[in-house]
Amino acid sequence: MTDDHALEIYRLFDLSLAVGEPEARLAEKARVRLGLAPEELAGLRIARKALDARWRNGARRLEFVCHVDVSVRGGALRGVAAKRELASGKLKPAPEVGTVRVDGLDDAARAKRALVVGSGPAGIFAAWVLAKNGVAVTLLERGPALEERSRPLVQFHRSRVVDPEANLLFGEGGAGTYSDGKIYTRVDDPLEVVLLEELVACGAPPSIAYDSLAHIGTDKLHRILPELRRRLIELGVRFLFRTRLERLVLRGDGERSIVAAETTAGIVECDACFLATGHSARDTWRALHAQGVPFEAKPFQLGLRIEHPQELVDRARYGPATAQLGAASYNLISKADERAAAAYSFCMCPGGRIVASVSEPGLLCTNGMSNSRHSSGWATSAIVTTFGPAEFGAGAFDGVAFQRELERRFFVAGGGDYTAPAQTAADFLSGRASRAARHSTYPFGTTSARLDELLPPSARDALARSLERFDRQIPGFASADGLFVGLESRSSGPVRIPRDRATRSAVGFTNLYPLGEGAGYAGGIMSAALDGANAALVHLRALACPSATR
Ligand SMILES: Cc1cc2nc3c(=O)[nH]c(=O)nc-3n(C[C@H](O)[C@H](O)[C@H](O)COP(=O)(O)OP(=O)(O)OC[C@H]3O[C@@H](n4cnc5c(N)ncnc54)[C@H](O)[C@@H]3O)c2cc1C
Repeated sequence: MTDDHALEIYRLFDLSLAVGEPEARLAEKARVRLGLAPEELAGLRIARKALDARWRNGARRLEFVCHVDVSVRGGALRGVAAKRELASGKLKPAPEVGTVRVDGLDDAARAKRALVVGSGPAGIFAAWVLAKNGVAVTLLERGPALEERSRPLVQFHRSRVVDPEANLLFGEGGAGTYSDGKIYTRVDDPLEVVLLEELVACGAPPSIAYDSLAHIGTDKLHRILPELRRRLIELGVRFLFRTRLERLVLRGDGERSIVAAETTAGIVECDACFLATGHSARDTWRALHAQGVPFEAKPFQLGLRIEHPQELVDRARYGPATAQLGAASYNLISKADERAAAAYSFCMCPGGRIVASVSEPGLLCTNGMSNSRHSSGWATSAIVTTFGPAEFGAGAFDGVAFQRELERRFFVAGGGDYTAPAQTAADFLSGRASRAARHSTYPFGTTSARLDELLPPSARDALARSLERFDRQIPGFASADGLFVGLESRSSGPVRIPRDRATRSAVGFTNLYPLGEGAGYAGGIMSAALDGANAALVHLRALACPSATR
C-alpha cells in the first residue's frame, strides 16, 4: 500500500524547451504530460538540460531537452498519462542522491588526524567530506593561496621565468583554478549533486547542477574558492600553503602505514594520508616511489591545441540563432581506422584562450581557459590521441620521460622562451610551415614551425585524419582559420598508483589514499572531486566499522 500523503520523486525524461523559453514553463509541461492537477505536483527540479542542435529533414531545429525530477504525492501517478510514461520508460523513480554523512563514528574515530596533500578538487573534496564528519584535517598545498597566485603568474608572463612552486598548476584550487571550469562529467555518481550543491552554496550558478555543458569560468571560480576555503576552515580544516610534502614517515614496525609527513614546514603527524598531488608533481612521485609507494605507467593523451575564430564554430553549430545561445561548443571524435589511431577534441573552451600550463623551466605545455562569459571571440580545444606503454615503455616513469622529451622539443622549437610553435591546420595537412604568424590568444606569442614533424608520426597521422573528419562537421575547421599551437601533453596523467579496490588504499599500504588525476583516477575537475570525496567516505566507513573493509 502506498501512503497517499508521502512525497515520491520521479524522473521525467525529454521535456522540450524552445530557445528563449523560461525554465519556469517546465512545471506546466511536466504536469500536462503526467496528467496531474496543479496541487498534485509538489515540486520540480531540473536534473539535466541539454541543447539539441541536430539536423532534421535538412533543417536545424534548436531546442533544449530537459529531464526533470518531479515530487508528487503518493498515488498521483495512477492516471492513464502517467502510466503510459511509466510503461515507456520516460518516467522512472529518480536516482538516489548520495550523502557524505557517515553513521557510527565515535570520538576515537573522529580523533584520528587526516593529512590531505594538494588543494585541487580531489584534495579539497576529500578534506570537505572528512571535516563534515568531524575529523581533524590538515591540508598541505605546495603553492600559494588563491590571493597570492596571480602575482607569480604575472611575473612569469613578464619575465618568462617560471616559478616551480607557484604557477598555473600549483596553488590553491589546483590545476583547474585557471580553467574553463567545465564541471560536467560522464560518470554517474550519487555524490555529484551533493558536491555541486556545495559549489552553488559557495556562489556558483545554480544551473551547474543540471546544465549538460556546465562551466563556471575562471572569474567565478576565483570568487567561489575563497568561500569554499572559508567554509572548510569553519569545519576545522587547517590549511598550510606554500608547504610541500617531501617524504612520508612510515611506522617502524614493518607494516606499511603512514604516521607523519616530512614537509618543507617540518613534520606533520597523521593517522591517514590522502595524496592528491595532481598530474604534474613529478618530483613528489619520484620521492614517494623511492620509499616504496607503487607507481605504474598508464596511457595518457597527447596532441595539440587548436584555435578558431568563435564565429566559425557558432555558424556550424547554431546557424544564425547564436545571440541567445552564447558561444558554441563542440565535442568531436575521430575513430581509429586503417590509416590512423583515434583522436578527439578535449577541454573545449568556447570564447576562451590558450594558456601556458607550465610548472617546470624549459618545458612547454599548453591548455585552455575561459571566463564565464566566454567572450574572447576565439574557440580553443585540445585535439589529442592516446599514447600508452606500448609506445613509450612499461617502466613506471617511462611516460613521464616521454612527455618531458616532447615538452622540451616544443620549448626549443618555440625559441626557448615559452613562445609556442604554431602551424595552421591547412599547413599541418599539407606538410609545410605556415608563412605568417597568425593571431593567437596564447600569451607568449607563437612562431611558425612544422608541428607535423615535431609530433611523433602516429600522433601526426591521428591528428591529420581527425582534421579531415572534423572539417566535415565544422566547415573551415581544417582550413587556415584553424591554428595548431603545441604541445598539449597533460590532458591526463602518465602514471597510476595502484590501489586496493575495496579500501582505496595504495597497494601494500594501510592508510595512504592516492586520489585524483595524479594518481590516475580522474580526468577533470568533477571526476577528481568525486574521487576525493569517495575515498574519504571509504576511509570514514572503515573507521566507523573497522571489520567491514579491512
Ligand atoms: C589550464 C587548465 C584548464 C583545465 N580546464 C578544465 C576544465 O574546464 N574542466 C575540467 O574538468 N578539467 C579541467 N582541467 C583539468 C583539471 O584541472 C584537473 O583534472 C583537476 O584539477 C585534477 O584535480 P586534482 O585534485 O587531481 O589535481 P590538481 O588540481 O592538479 O591539484 C593538485 C594540487 O596538489 C599540489 N601539490 C602537488 N605536489 C604537492 C606536494 N608535494 N605537496 C603539497 N602539495 C602538492 C599542487 O600544487 C596542486 O595544487 C584543466 C587543467 C588545466 C591545467
